[in-house]
Formats: sequence, C-alpha cells, structure tokens
Amino acid sequence: MFPISEKARRSVLDEAERLRLLSSTERDLIRLVHEPGYSRWLEQIKSIGGCSHPIYLAGYTTTRHALTGEILRHYDTSSEPGGRMPVRCRNRRETRCKPCSYLHAGDTFHLVRAGLLGGKGVADNVRHHPRLFVTLTAPSFGPVHGADGRVCRPRRGGGVCEHGRPVGCNQRHEETDPMVGQPLCRDCYDYPGHVLWHASAGKLWNRYCHMLRRHLATAAGITQTALRDHLTVSFAKVAEYQKRGAVHFHAVIRLDGREGPSSPPPLWATVSLLSDAVMSAAERVEVQAPYSLATGERVIKWGEQLDVHPIRSDAFTESAVTDSAVAAYVAKYVSKSVGDSGGIDYRIQDLDSIRLAPVNSHLRALMATCWRLGGLPELVGLHLRAWAHMLGYRGHVLTKSRHYSTTYGELRAVRADYQRGGVLALEDQEAVTESSWRYVGSGHSPAEAEIAYGIAEDLATLRDIRREMISEGWKYAA
Ligand SMILES: [Zn+2]
Ligand SMILES: [Zn+2]
Ligand SMILES: [Zn+2]
Repeated sequence: MFPISEKARRSVLDEAERLRLLSSTERDLIRLVHEPGYSRWLEQIKSIGGCSHPIYLAGYTTTRHALTGEILRHYDTSSEPGGRMPVRCRNRRETRCKPCSYLHAGDTFHLVRAGLLGGKGVADNVRHHPRLFVTLTAPSFGPVHGADGRVCRPRRGGGVCEHGRPVGCNQRHEETDPMVGQPLCRDCYDYPGHVLWHASAGKLWNRYCHMLRRHLATAAGITQTALRDHLTVSFAKVAEYQKRGAVHFHAVIRLDGREGPSSPPPLWATVSLLSDAVMSAAERVEVQAPYSLATGERVIKWGEQLDVHPIRSDAFTESAVTDSAVAAYVAKYVSKSVGDSGGIDYRIQDLDSIRLAPVNSHLRALMATCWRLGGLPELVGLHLRAWAHMLGYRGHVLTKSRHYSTTYGELRAVRADYQRGGVLALEDQEAVTESSWRYVGSGHSPAEAEIAYGIAEDLATLRDIRREMISEGWKYAA
C-alpha cells in the first residue's frame, strides 16, 4: 500500500525480532552498562581480581584521632553502586572461583616456601635444617585398574574371583580411561575399610607425629621428654585425592632446634636420622577404628607405598625435589578438591542425592557406604554422613604445625596493607576505628559473571606477560 511506511514497519519488526532473539545474558548486559554506577562497579570487580562469587557488604568504617576526635578517614558504601561493596569469596577451589583459588594457591606457595627458604618472618637458616618431602599413602582396599603405561594387571590363564569376575586385566589404560581407579570387582572391594581409613586418617597422622618424635628420641638415645630440650619437628602437609578415591598426604617435615625455626637443630639430627625415623614410624603407627558388628575390628595403618626425599636447595637444579618445586607442588593441591577427582564438592543431605550425584559407580559406592555406616550409633563419632561427599575424610586440605612458617592471615594482612600503601601505620596508638558491616548479598547476574570472567582472564594474561618479561630480564617492567 504505502511502500515507505512498509519499509519503516519492517525495520521496526526487525528490531523487535532482534531484541526477542537476544539471550537473557545480553539483555542483562544492556541493563548493566546503563546503570549509573557501572564504571565504579567495574573498578570494584577489578580490585577483587574478577572474583566469580563475590560477597556484597554494606556499612562504614570511620577512623578518628584518639584524642581530638578528628576524622582521619571515612569510608561508606552509601555512595557506591547499589549502596554496597564486593569482597572476594576467597574460595580455595578452582572449580568454585578461579581467581580466588589462584590467590590462595599463591599464598600457599609462599607459606610452604617460607618454611623451606625462610623469609616472611621465618629465619633464613631453616634452609640448612634437615628437610624431607614425604608422601604417605592409603593401603590397598582391593585391586583397581591403573594407568602407568604398563599392562594393567597381567594374569596368564585368566581366573575369576568368587563373584565370577576376572581377577586380571590385560589392557593398557590411557590416563583418561574412565576405568582407571575403578575396582576389578566391586563386590571384592573393601568399601567399609576404605571409608573407615579416611575417617581415621587425621588421627593416624596425629599419632604418626607422636611416633616420629618417639623414634627420633630413640635414635638419639634420649627420652621423649628430653627430646623437647633439643629439637622441634615442624611440618606442612596437603591431602590429595587419587583416582581410586583414596587420600594421599604430601608433607614437608623439618627439624628445628628447641626454640623453633630460629634455632639450629643439634648436630646429631641429620637428614638420614630423620629419614630413618620417618620410615620406621610410618611402619609402626596404627589406630584402632571404633568397633562395629558391621565392620568388625579394623586397624588403620599407612599403605606400603612411602616416598621420602631430601629437599635440595633451589641452587642444586639437578634434583627434582627443590624448595620451590615442593612449594609449587603443595600449592597445586590446595586448589583441587574431591570434585577434581570426579567427586562432588558440596554436602550430601540424603541417600537420594547420592543416587543422583554425577559421579562414577565406585565413588557412589564409597558415598553410599559412608551413609550406611554413618547411620550406626557406634560409628556416629566418625561423622561419616556429614563427610560423605569427601568419602569420609574430614581433615583440612592443608595443615601445618605451629612453628612451620607464617599463616594465611599474616600473608593477607601484608597484602591488604600493601594495597592501602601502608598509610595506616600510625593508627595503632593514635587512632580509633569504628565500623559496622552487614551482608547484603552474593554472586553475579549472568552479565556480571561474564564481565568478571573477562577481568580475571585479563589479569591472568597480564600476570603471564609480566612473568615472561621478568624471566627475560626486564626486571623493571613489573
Ligand atoms: Zn572468589
Ligand atoms: Zn585394567
Ligand atoms: Zn569379586
């Protein structure tokens, strides 16, 4: 009818169609960039490294001069976008928040490294103390498929277990083969033994530390009480889930003098003396699991596989087990969780969620065993139901002795002070701080999540470029 208005009509329709086709994320993005505080919000997200699950707080902090009452500093979220400010989620798991897990892994690296080389408030001479890198394992609970490049479980002439399943496996499995870590026969596999071992592993470690001191005392020909007058044993250890769903411990064990890291250990406390004690104590130590008719008597011990390596200084590059390599190795594991080994990293509420959990049948059987045994009154103290998602292990990922090195809290405090430019140095005596904060929300909308992801990626790229420039000798580029 009217060619011009027809064209106009079509363009209006095209625009409507285009908007309709926009994804909800794109619509959210349009909303976000039009909000008045958008550029300030970007700044905030940058300052928390693009954290993928920030906690939003509202409140204020006022710093006054203690005597005059004069306001030295005042920060209030009422002028911030949405009247709130984001802080990092600080999750250590890579699957939850990549930028925060990266930061946490970095802190762990420095924490472990300071215990080996000194620095961060730790005496430099720790590098001359006897130091070992030790791996303690769980025992076998039944044969599982492995991927070490060789034939899995060679067995000529076949043979079957009492359940009619082959007792050997002549395949060569790739690392990514879903069979790897799965038992050859699920009915032969000792599931109660596996979860009871996990539930007692923390206790086994504690008792092991005592046993280690006792064996050191015996080697020195003195009593355990007298040992305290000569030396301290310091450690940092990390738990790692293997493919079969069992935890391994990797530990740095160091001998100090009686005052801790700042004092030298006695001359007789050598690397080989420590090494012998580490091995003999590992062989001897055991824990009795609580008795139950369902599980019988269970004695909890370390597995036969035990690795002990002296830690070399970074200067000796021909050794793979150096200060920095060990620190990096431990740091890598703190950002991992049972989720990275095919498990789940959230708590289980009921048996149904075990049935529906996106895990392989072996891990499901371990969780179900936790649930079943956790319901028995005599095993209630092991808290197996609450820790079913961790397959019964309820320890921290990283633990360390009091004297090992610095703490996460101190590393964070130093970083926060550095970010403030160290301006609050005078506050201790002359200023008083009053503050009030409350939680007002957490997380990102779909568009916010994408932008935060982009920021985190940019920061990571920048970090890589800087690292490269530094290693190329551009020392002043950073
Ligand atoms: Zn985060
Ligand atoms: Zn196999
Ligand atoms: Zn069987």
